[in-house]
Amino acid sequence: MKDEIAIAETWDGLVRIHAAVTTNMVDEARKVHDCLATSAAALGRTLTVSAIMASDLKAEDEKITAIFNGHGPAGTVLAQANGKGDVRGYISDPHLYMTRADGHLDVGGAIGTNGNLTVTRDMGLKEPFTGVVRIQTGEVGQDFAYYYAISEQTRSVVSVGVLVEPDGSVSAAGGLIIQLLPDAGDDIVDKVEEVTKHLRPMTDLIHEGLSADEIIMTCFPQARILAHKPVRYCCGCSREHYHDALAVLRKSDLEEMIAEGKPAEITCAYCEKKYVYSVDELKEILQERCGTSEK
Ligand code: ZN
Repeated sequence: MKDEIAIAETWDGLVRIHAAVTTNMVDEARKVHDCLATSAAALGRTLTVSAIMASDLKAEDEKITAIFNGHGPAGTVLAQANGKGDVRGYISDPHLYMTRADGHLDVGGAIGTNGNLTVTRDMGLKEPFTGVVRIQTGEVGQDFAYYYAISEQTRSVVSVGVLVEPDGSVSAAGGLIIQLLPDAGDDIVDKVEEVTKHLRPMTDLIHEGLSADEIIMTCFPQARILAHKPVRYCCGCSREHYHDALAVLRKSDLEEMIAEGKPAEITCAYCEKKYVYSVDELKEILQERCGTSEK
């Protein structure tokens, strides 16, 4: 099944539904970062929810950044998604394999609960909006539901999952977000609760081959599909980007690098691509800096 996000509404538009199939995107992230199962699940769930959030953005260059800093062994888990459907991210420790007593991957234990989930919506010209909430379980889905409730005053159900095969590959990944608009009354709340009571794990549905549309229709047969959005793992970094990053370093740092006489090697945190800048290039960057600013 191809990766895709479907957006739908039901019950007079009082309930909005997003479903995402992200198997290929998450497997690509797993390969890029050489993730073991628990790290793949923690990163994959965060990438998936961020991608769903970004599917509502109006412009291609607007972006959502979600960061878990739970002080667990996973360290920082970061995902960034833009209005084009390009998603990228990283996890401090990609090599975690942790299971719970019931045999499931211990994503909550890996992320930890001693810290915050921070979500930043960068809407281009406007000031970015940042919401910060305490991590509740570290299982990702519940944490984003809590974020929606506290930071955006939106009641929601967030179900997200990543299935990792014994050989380490990701065979199913995706998510479902159900949101109630502020005007939704108790009757709608009851109906949504009835649906979520019978909700099966996303990984089961996707493993069975359901598309994003079919996931929505299974839960809400009367829903109206409004839009489809693409989703893929794509970093989008370039030599120029990291050239610019070097150009904003302190003058003394650049001088130190030049004095060492070794090329500067930068590894992109999102795609692990290496960029090398020769001493001559570093000198040029230093000269450009001195030409445009005083220090
Ligand atoms: Zn990159």
